Amino acid sequence: MAKFCNKCQQTLEDSSFNKRADRPGLRAHCRKCCAKRPSRRKKPIMTPEQRKESQRLARKRYNETKERKAKQAAYEAHRRAAKLKATPKWLTETHLAHIAAYYECAAAISAYLGTQMDVDHIVPLKGKEVCGLHVPWNMQVMQHIGNVSKNNKLES
Ligand SMILES: [Zn+2]
Repeated sequence: MAKFCNKCQQTLEDSSFNKRADRPGLRAHCRKCCAKRPSRRKKPIMTPEQRKESQRLARKRYNETKERKAKQAAYEAHRRAAKLKATPKWLTETHLAHIAAYYECAAAISAYLGTQMDVDHIVPLKGKEVCGLHVPWNMQVMQHIGNVSKNNKLES
């Protein structure tokens, strides 16, 4: 059997064609034409400086994503809360994931509405009457201004 190579425009024997990798049959271009095609798999080799620079840019890109910002917000709140000794030691991984989800949620709503949303502690961590805990069941997502104007007073 002969087959027409539509690259070099020649009719060649079947044996001059490679088999397709994705499904049965022969490739559209002959062996010679396939060999001539430049490989796209090889990446240009970077110098250590270029690699450093590209890693720096990748990190910068990642730091600007809302996922990263949510993580950062969760981390900062966690640190603040820890300072106030409001984070119980018995919190499980699930609790911590739940807390992180509140911050991710706030970041996502902020991005969607274009207004700053915060994770608020329903019972303030440093309230006048009582001190709340930095735990998932003491959390709610609310608008930034509301969070501040609450002024650490316990609502009844
Ligand atoms: Zn060919």
